Amino acid sequence: MGEFVDQLGWGFETRAVHAGQSPDPTSGAVVTPITLSTTFVQDGVGNHKGFEYSRSGNPTRAALETCVASLEGARHGFAFASGLAAEDNVLRVLHQGDRILLGNDAYGGTFRLISKVWSPLGFPWSAVDLTDIDALAANWPTDTKLVWLETPTNPLLTCIDIEAVAALAHERGALVVVDNTFATPFLQQPLSLGADVVVHSATKYLGGHSDVVGGFLALNDDTLADRIRFTQNAAGAVPAPFDCYLVLRGVKTLGVRMDRHCSNARAVVDLLLGHPAVDRVLYPQLPDHPGHAAAAKQMSDFGGMVSFTMRGGEAAALAVVNNTELFALAESLGAVESLIEHPGRMTHASAAGSPLQVPDSLVRLSVGIESANDLVADLAQALARLD
Ligand code: PLP
Repeated sequence: MGEFVDQLGWGFETRAVHAGQSPDPTSGAVVTPITLSTTFVQDGVGNHKGFEYSRSGNPTRAALETCVASLEGARHGFAFASGLAAEDNVLRVLHQGDRILLGNDAYGGTFRLISKVWSPLGFPWSAVDLTDIDALAANWPTDTKLVWLETPTNPLLTCIDIEAVAALAHERGALVVVDNTFATPFLQQPLSLGADVVVHSATKYLGGHSDVVGGFLALNDDTLADRIRFTQNAAGAVPAPFDCYLVLRGVKTLGVRMDRHCSNARAVVDLLLGHPAVDRVLYPQLPDHPGHAAAAKQMSDFGGMVSFTMRGGEAAALAVVNNTELFALAESLGAVESLIEHPGRMTHASAAGSPLQVPDSLVRLSVGIESANDLVADLAQALARLD
């Protein structure tokens, strides 16, 4: 269940449509059925068709787990009820006293989970600059057992050299977890660069349509997979079959959506770069962007997320997010429709006063797959309305 071996050598888009999803043998249905049954009949005690009880394993979830594992080039995949549930399950492989190193630019919910839930239980943590490998090596806390990195980060889009961090962490005996939510496996495959575990908020690009909350873990190590399989079942934060179906349906078009997200992001970046009200544009393709070299090395394109700071500070940033008409003012990201938000007051409010606090002049865009001209025109009018 949820294990993938690519015997056919299929390309990414073929695996996205077919991996784990052969036509249903009983009906011939080409779409993976949504199996709602909570329990599965046994011919004799312990003699079943691979499923006993839906928390432990479910056919629709197994199809999703096999498919996304294949896209990440992973042997094992595990689906969860949310990205944070997936994150919580990775942290359960640690033992009390094990230190977690978290990049100093990360999703506010990850910061909250580590600093407010796990740290009080006896898991020390530090926020570190993962872009500076020499400083990281020189200041490495000896009790570190897990390095948590996002690349590109949320919301500053800083890119971290996964290969370099993994080499250092492994030399020092720590696991490396990469949150691949922003890049998706279409643009970046962290396991091939030395990461031990890949995390996703499937709520974002994997689902892709703002209609399902989900999480995912992909990994290769069999022993680690046994631990995760155990906690997935024992703690029980599993997704419903219908949610698995929605993510699986989203994943089929991941490649084509990502291509459009990337090209639309470039059109938006071109507008912002030349605009007098905009101070700094943050996009990994820009040569002066922090981690541009890492992004160019490990990503096949630069993604659909764009952040920028406003010369007019927080007031201007809040005005822009209120002025757009097509870009909807909302949290979340990675879906077909374009979204705009103010991270300091919205997604990253929980990081206020911490080393992960974000600039108050920052605006974050999740660039959707609408017509590029309409997106550019909407931002242009929102910026023009500032005085
Ligand atoms: N990781 C990143 C990069 C995110 O942006 C988010 C949510 O915004 C999460 C993890 C958490 O995922 P979820 O909201 O599905 O629990």
